Amino acid sequence: MKCALVTGGSRGIGRAVCVKLSAMGYHVLINYRSNQAEAEKTREMVNAAGGSGELLPFDVSNREEVRQKLEQWISGHADQPIEVLVNNAGIRDDALMIFMKEEQWDRVLDTSLQGFFTVTKVVLQQMALRRYGRIVNIVSLSGLKGMPGQTNYAAAKAGVIAATKSLAQELGKRNITVNAVAPGFIRTEMTEDIDEAQWKERIPVNRFGEPEEVSHLVGFLAMPESAYITGQVIGINGGMYS
Ligand code: NDP
Repeated sequence: MKCALVTGGSRGIGRAVCVKLSAMGYHVLINYRSNQAEAEKTREMVNAAGGSGELLPFDVSNREEVRQKLEQWISGHADQPIEVLVNNAGIRDDALMIFMKEEQWDRVLDTSLQGFFTVTKVVLQQMALRRYGRIVNIVSLSGLKGMPGQTNYAAAKAGVIAATKSLAQELGKRNITVNAVAPGFIRTEMTEDIDEAQWKERIPVNRFGEPEEVSHLVGFLAMPESAYITGQVIGINGGMYS
C-alpha cells in the first residue's frame, strides 16, 4: 500500500492533511513530537473516514532519532513506499531580535529548516530509487515578507523556500515534485494567541483560514496529475499576500 508521511500530524494543519491524504487512498504515517493523545485523535479521524494510518513519533529536530525511527520504519516496510512527504512540523517562538535568546533562534530553525533536511534526506532515497514522489513543504507568508518578532521563524521558512526551489531542480528528471505551501493566518493552536478580530481587517477574505482549506491545496499538489507543478511557492492567505 502506498504511504504518505506527514510531520506534525497530531494537530492543526498536519491533522487536516492526514485526513485529506488518507481520503486520497494513502496509508498515513502520523508523525508528532510529544502529544500522543492528539495524534491518536488524528488516527481516529482517519479511520472514521474509512482510511488507515499509524503513529510514527519522532522529533524532527533530532537527527539521530529521525534516522533511527524513520529509517527503521522504511527498511521494515519495503512493500509500503512513502510516495508523499509533507514537511509540516513547525513551531513559533516570537521575540524582537534584540531580546531573542539563542535557544529561541536555534529551536525554531532546528524544527523547520534542519527538520526539513533530515526527514527529506531519509525519504528521498526511496523516492529517487522508485522515480516517483511528491514533497510538500509547509512554509509561511512570514518567510516571504518577514514579520516583526519573527526573525527566527521567517528565516527558517525562507530557508525552506530556497531549499524547495533547489531540490525541485535536482529531482525534476526523477518525477519527484517539490513545492511549498505558504499559509497566511490559519485557525490552529499556533495562532490561538493572535486576535483574529484585529487582524481580519487586513485580510481581503475577512477571516482566518481553516486547516482543511490548506489540506485541500496540499492534496492537490500531492496528486499524480500535478506532475508539472514543481519548485513553486503557493500562497493560501485569503488575499493577504503582503
Ligand atoms: P500546531 O502548533 O497546531 O501543530 C504543530 C504540529 O507540529 C504538532 O503536530 C506538533 O506535534 C508538531 N511538531 C512541533 N515540533 C515538532 C518536532 N520537533 N518534531 C515533530 N513534530 C513537531 O501548528 P499549525 O498546524 O498551525 O502549523 C503547522 C505548520 O504550518 C507549521 O510549519 C507552521 O509553521 C505552518 N504555518 C502555520 C500557520 C498558521 O497560521 N497556523 C501560518 C503559516 C504557516 P505535537 O502535537 O507532538 O506537539
